[in-house]
Amino acid sequence: MAFSLRNLKIHDQLLVLTLPPLFVLLSSVGLFFYAYWLATRSSRTIVQTEESVAHGEALLRNVTEMDSAARGYLLLKRPSLLRAYDTAAQSASRELAILMGLAQNDRQEVRQVAAVQSAVSQLEVDWANPALTEARQGQIQDLNGILRDGDARLAALRAQLLRLLAENRAAGTRAVISTDRVMSRALLLGVGMAILFGAALILLTRLVTRTISLPVRQLIEASERVGRGDFQPPLPPPVENEFGVLSKSFSHMTSALQREREELSALKRFTEAVTQCTSENEVYDHVLHSLQQRFQPRQVMIFKLKPEEDFLEAVATLTPLPAELRNWPVMEGRYSCKAVRMGRPFRVNDVTQEPLCPGRFALPTEGSYYCGPLIAGGIIIGAIRLEGAKGMWTPERESLLESYLSAAATALSNLRLLQTMREQANIDPLTGLYNRRFLEEYARKLMAMARRKESPLGFIMMDLDHFKSFNDIYGHEIGDRILRQFAKTVTQTMRETNLTARFGGEEFVVLLPDTGAKACQVVAERIRKAVAHMTVPSGTEKPLPQITVSLGIAVYPDHGAELEEVLQASDKALYESKRAGRNRTTIYVEEAEAAG
Ligand code: GH3
Ligand code: MG
Ligand code: MG
Repeated sequence: MAFSLRNLKIHDQLLVLTLPPLFVLLSSVGLFFYAYWLATRSSRTIVQTEESVAHGEALLRNVTEMDSAARGYLLLKRPSLLRAYDTAAQSASRELAILMGLAQNDRQEVRQVAAVQSAVSQLEVDWANPALTEARQGQIQDLNGILRDGDARLAALRAQLLRLLAENRAAGTRAVISTDRVMSRALLLGVGMAILFGAALILLTRLVTRTISLPVRQLIEASERVGRGDFQPPLPPPVENEFGVLSKSFSHMTSALQREREELSALKRFTEAVTQCTSENEVYDHVLHSLQQRFQPRQVMIFKLKPEEDFLEAVATLTPLPAELRNWPVMEGRYSCKAVRMGRPFRVNDVTQEPLCPGRFALPTEGSYYCGPLIAGGIIIGAIRLEGAKGMWTPERESLLESYLSAAATALSNLRLLQTMREQANIDPLTGLYNRRFLEEYARKLMAMARRKESPLGFIMMDLDHFKSFNDIYGHEIGDRILRQFAKTVTQTMRETNLTARFGGEEFVVLLPDTGAKACQVVAERIRKAVAHMTVPSGTEKPLPQITVSLGIAVYPDHGAELEEVLQASDKALYESKRAGRNRTTIYVEEAEAAG
């Protein structure tokens, strides 16, 4: 990726962004110190030149005094003038020393001062001292000549001194002008720097906005869109700094959220589908299909717990079971399934490494497997096993699978509850036999089957003899007890394929598939005899008199093409038994036949 400010870490971005104003600030400080240094240097120069001028003027005065004192002594010979000469000469040499000191940084000035110094000493050594010595000794020969010579020397010295003074003054003026110039330039530069500093600050603010607050705003916008359910919001362009990391983890988070949402809606669809199933097999189909879709297992097995037989039966599988298990797909002993024993999932990540469950029912030889119990309302109703690749189980997948199992278990349990309720609606609560409604429904089905098979369907209609008087004498309670005992006796006497139903108060019907009239009679007689030997405790010391039953037989299709006709025929046969003295069996005979 090409270098870009946006790719730098936030810390480095800020560092880079603060560089221009920092540079401007440092330059301004440097400029200030430079101007300050120039100003102090100029003022020092001005002070120095002023001092030089003052001492130059003093020297001029001293030299003039030396000249006048020497001249006066030559003319008047007053000793006080000699002293005045010495004082002026001393002052002059002091001023010369000061001037030399002030000029020490300027070579030209040093040369000029040195020239003045030598001129002064020449004035003293070559002119004043010999003239004054001659005058003291009174040997002056050419006074006028000496005085002229002195004038000339003094004039030359004055001219030299005045030049020095003029140059010093000019240097002072130059220093003032240059200070002025430097100060006004520094002022201009200062204003320029201030403008630059301001511009750099504006630039910095804009850059900070662009590189820091823009991605933050884009991320805020993106998270708001995710909140509204849009899982593919535009994100800040990929960069290599903290925003890049943040953006990447944000995008991971949204994809995880999206995945989770998809999982949830798939689970919702599954829950809805299994809730609407009308049979357990339909639920099994949905479970197999959905688990295959979501988990891509190699094998799925659904086990149904049969508590009364104490085994788990494999009721549905994704891929067929091995041939030897197909006839008896059963895991013996419900607790040989660890998931059922523990009431929670059991997982083996690698079947070649870890201990397996004791119910070694068609276990995989490689990879992993997961067994989860099917629990509804706190009751274990079965288990589901998923087999797959090694280590395919993560906590997230397990938790998702548990949700699927829970939904499946609830649906299965509801179906079983519904089945029980349906059965209860078909069952007579007093005797536990089927009721009339169910009998009629079932009889029609058996009649259709009999028609197809062209086999007979036998009907035995039964009615207890003199039952009313039992009720009247021993009470309704005892009557009920007799009815229950009668029902028990009948079912015990019969084959499972026959169906017994309570038809009315103390009337009962038995349906016998594939049974003709004669065979029905055998069954009916067995019932009649069993009832005749039946004992019912009376609840009192006095035992109940023997109970008997009368029976009537009719056969489909011989005695009627419709259910009502066959029932009527059996009722008529029953009536015939009653009429003939009760406690007997009669096969229906067509009226015409009977009359004949
Ligand atoms: P028959 O030999 O002619 O059948 O004489 P019966 O007394 O049995 O006469 P019927 O069949 O008409 O009597 C039916 C009686 O059955 C009337 C009613 O009191 C009694 N009953 C019907 N349902 C029940 C019941 O649920 N419990 C009890 N205790 N009695 C019932
Ligand atoms: Mg009756
Ligand atoms: Mg009766």
